[in-house]
Amino acid sequence: MKSYQNPKGTYDVRPDMAAKYQQLEGILESIAHFYGYEEIRTPIFEDTGVFKRENDSSDMVNKEMYTFSMNGKDSFTLRPEGTAGVVRSYVQNKYYALADQPVKMYYYGPMFRHEHPQKGRYRQFEQFGIESIGAKSPMLDAEGIALGYSMIKALGLKNVRVRINSLGDDESRKNYREKLAAYFRPHIHELCTDCQRRLEQNPLRILDCKVDADHPVMKDVPLISDSLNEPSKAYFKEVLDCLDALEIPYVIDPKLVRGLDYYTDTVFEVENITGNAGAQATVFAGGRYDGLVSYFGGPDVSGFGFAMGMERLIMLAEDEGTKLDEMPKTEVYVMSLGNVGTKPLEIATECRALGYITDFNYASRSLKSQFKTVERSGAKVAVIIGESELADNKINIKNNRTKEQITVSLDEFADALDRIMEEENEENSL
Ligand code: ATP
Ligand code: MG
Repeated sequence: MKSYQNPKGTYDVRPDMAAKYQQLEGILESIAHFYGYEEIRTPIFEDTGVFKRENDSSDMVNKEMYTFSMNGKDSFTLRPEGTAGVVRSYVQNKYYALADQPVKMYYYGPMFRHEHPQKGRYRQFEQFGIESIGAKSPMLDAEGIALGYSMIKALGLKNVRVRINSLGDDESRKNYREKLAAYFRPHIHELCTDCQRRLEQNPLRILDCKVDADHPVMKDVPLISDSLNEPSKAYFKEVLDCLDALEIPYVIDPKLVRGLDYYTDTVFEVENITGNAGAQATVFAGGRYDGLVSYFGGPDVSGFGFAMGMERLIMLAEDEGTKLDEMPKTEVYVMSLGNVGTKPLEIATECRALGYITDFNYASRSLKSQFKTVERSGAKVAVIIGESELADNKINIKNNRTKEQITVSLDEFADALDRIMEEENEENSL
């Protein structure tokens, strides 16, 4: 016999955890709907080219992707992030031709990156993200940040900080890349081999290096803010004005470049500043991307998006005492005694149709053991089907709190159950 374990960097969502995920997804979805976003579901794998774009120098693309081929010709990749697939879909399905832009979409589901697993960092993890594609306005950047901010507030996270920066437009970034490359070139042999590659590919990436973060050369790097042209500066200022108007606190971090290569103008990260997330403190992050839609063959329109790590959200929400697993529990439990045929299933189905979360006894068990199940389930009401009562078309309903039990005809059952449940719900809301 062989025994197996889940692959390194993955985890099972056991039923107790699944309840938390469901609750979290419900909260995030309802807030996204509130802001006018609709769900999109794209495939979990795509043509590798969707993620591995020309000149992309990010670690994610170069080192972390799960890429496979079934015939030695076509190459596919398990999605490491959500944006590229959504933009691919936006272009392929010509959403850009819709009268109202931007198109606002949210998604959630598993992402795959071959990283070094640690607390809050996995190889298969869940992200919830939004994309608003087809328009550009500082108000949209600020709205996107506000949306994510209201999500983490709803989850009870208190000590969060928005760090924000602007990478400017193409011209600004080109200026900056040249300045940075000139600055790093004399020191490049002191930096890691990745940074040596980054120097020619995309020197901005050096600023995101986790190996060289504390190297003295990082202290006096030229800042992007000094390379932004006037339109880029003006755009950034307007984004900040919007955040001020919404009273969202932020700090400008002129070295923030983000881990993905497609961002232009606004980039931001929201991190938890207390708690035990350690190095994995970034809760959600994103920014604006001007060139991605046209890269995929669409018109020259811009997009904005962010993604949040759901494992980190759950971890931090629980640290703040938010109870994500207080899911609705069994309300009605249907017991049976003697030969009652398929009645337990039928009555349970009827209770569910009335809107109550219901479970039932299907085996030959003593009443005592069934009552124990009722206690454990927390059901407010036990319905007891007995062989002799059933012969008279009657059934028992027991209020589990008051221990009061009544016998009613099957015709009266639905009304009687509704009445008891109503009383119980009133009792609970007092
Ligand atoms: P980091 O700097 O932490 O590696 P990143 O720049 O790779 O983050 P993004 O690609 O922007 O992050 O992903 C957005 C969010 O998704 C992160 O802020 C984080 O909450 C979550 N995330 C990213 N990678 C992982 C992972 N391997 N496991 C769990 N959550 C992750
Ligand atoms: Mg990363």
